[in-house]
Amino acid sequence: MTKKFDVIVIGAGPAGYHAAIRAAQLGLNAACIDKWVNKQGNPIYGGTCLNVGCIPSKSLLDTSHKYIEAKEDFGAIGIKSKGLDIDVPAMIAHKDDIVESLTKGIAGLMKSNGVTTYDGNAHLGAGRVVDVTLHDGSTETLEADSVVIATGSVSVEIPSCPLTGEIIVDSTGALQFQSVPKRLGIIGAGAIGLELGSVWNRLGSEVVVLEALEEFLPMADQQVAREAAKQFKKQAMDIRLGTKVTGSSVKGKKVTVTYTDMEGEKNEAFDRLIVAVGRKPYTENLLAPDSGVDLDERGFIYVNDLCLTNAPGVYAVGDVVRGPMLAHKGMEEGIMVVERIAGQKPLLDYDCIPSVIYTHPEVAWVGKTEQELKSSGDSYNVGSFPMAASGRAMAANDTTGFIKILADDKTDRILGVHMIGAHVSELIAEGVIAMEFGSCAEDLGLTMFAHPTLSEGLHEAALAVSGHAIHIANRKRKK
Ligand code: FAD
Ligand code: AMP
Repeated sequence: MTKKFDVIVIGAGPAGYHAAIRAAQLGLNAACIDKWVNKQGNPIYGGTCLNVGCIPSKSLLDTSHKYIEAKEDFGAIGIKSKGLDIDVPAMIAHKDDIVESLTKGIAGLMKSNGVTTYDGNAHLGAGRVVDVTLHDGSTETLEADSVVIATGSVSVEIPSCPLTGEIIVDSTGALQFQSVPKRLGIIGAGAIGLELGSVWNRLGSEVVVLEALEEFLPMADQQVAREAAKQFKKQAMDIRLGTKVTGSSVKGKKVTVTYTDMEGEKNEAFDRLIVAVGRKPYTENLLAPDSGVDLDERGFIYVNDLCLTNAPGVYAVGDVVRGPMLAHKGMEEGIMVVERIAGQKPLLDYDCIPSVIYTHPEVAWVGKTEQELKSSGDSYNVGSFPMAASGRAMAANDTTGFIKILADDKTDRILGVHMIGAHVSELIAEGVIAMEFGSCAEDLGLTMFAHPTLSEGLHEAALAVSGHAIHIANRKRKK
């Protein structure tokens, strides 16, 4: 018998579970289907983000950061840390505990909000009919007025480096190493490659990052990217740009990678190799030929600005649609869609999506970069503030980086905020809020910030836009 719902959400990653829970909060009869099973074979919610993405990677980044701080920086501030050592299996077990408790938490939230959950594969047909094949092999047919697809993404694999399960791994495998590889190769200098490289570099691996592009972090403001490259070099991360990997061969416990750079073809041997060349939308076994849902030329589900697909009443959100593959982007799309289904009229401002790279220093930004403003011919003012001039950063013995604000020359409206430094993953929220509210740099300049805080760097950068910063020599001054 067909079961009827107001909303069926396919996928319980961040985009899907936000949609399902918000739908239930709005009084809609909501179902959510997910097929993920953990290592023990149990169904589990949270998708890529909670199981093998944002959360486990941040756990390893935080642990490895504490370790390297204790090893390299504690002495300078009077803390003795003799006999320091890293217990990799314990670090991984701690990460697994966090994943377990968070994913159980999502299951609890679904239940307490009254979302009906199904553990298995969803297949969408015409007329918003969803056939579910449960993990025990049984099937259910569901139907709804609205369907929200949130099936996410998977790692891109390259034929030159097929995964071997132990020596050549993707990001998921790199979150499971039980020992520190002596020499670690990473293909791809995107956020994921740099974060995973940082973890194992801090714990003692010799890390070599092979990146095909000539430019480092092309999506970031290039002044920030240059500073990031300088800092990673200081940390002995060997990032080689203009280096395209073309082959690999595994012998015993080593992999030899073949790549080409401007000097020609070269080989290099590693103990482990992480393939971090990006992610692609996931729609395998999802759509019946008559579902009415179209894909674009890159395999993403085609949607309009409001995340509606070509099939009436069928929406798609998160990594499976255009836009940055970021958890918070999917969460907000999921919420927007179900609020619209419930008759509300929210909109998502795609210009206000923050990006963060959780290395040390962290890199974070929102809005336009300086190179984007230059190429579109916009006139703008820049205000920046070095963390070396921040009392709080000095007190914390961590003065790397700067905060930079780009504001429209005529209206002073903030067009972009770019940061590199400790804790900027948190500070960027202040830039996002300012941009959401359509603030001018002057608005931030007129706001009182607690002293001493790193946030004061944002205040000073805003003041510097018009040449009024107090703790630095201003480049130019308006009245
Ligand atoms: P997913 O999280 O991929 O979830 C999709 C879900 O759909 C899965 O649970 C899957 O089982 C289910 N599903 C798929 N098809 C079906 C089907 N037919 N039937 C039933 N269920 C189905 N993003 C950030 O914002 N910050 C970070 O710090 C960050 N770090 C990352 C680190 C790593 C190592 C990786 C790999 C990713 C990281 N990301 C980060 C990206 C982030 O994980 C994704 O953007 C996010 O998970 C996308 O959410 P989603 O809900 O769209 O898809
Ligand atoms: P991202 O998509 O941001 O996670 O970054 C992935 C990176 O991997 C991109 O910067 C690509 O240029 C890079 N990349 C993809 N294929 C190769 C390859 N064969 N060799 C080296 N780098 C690659």
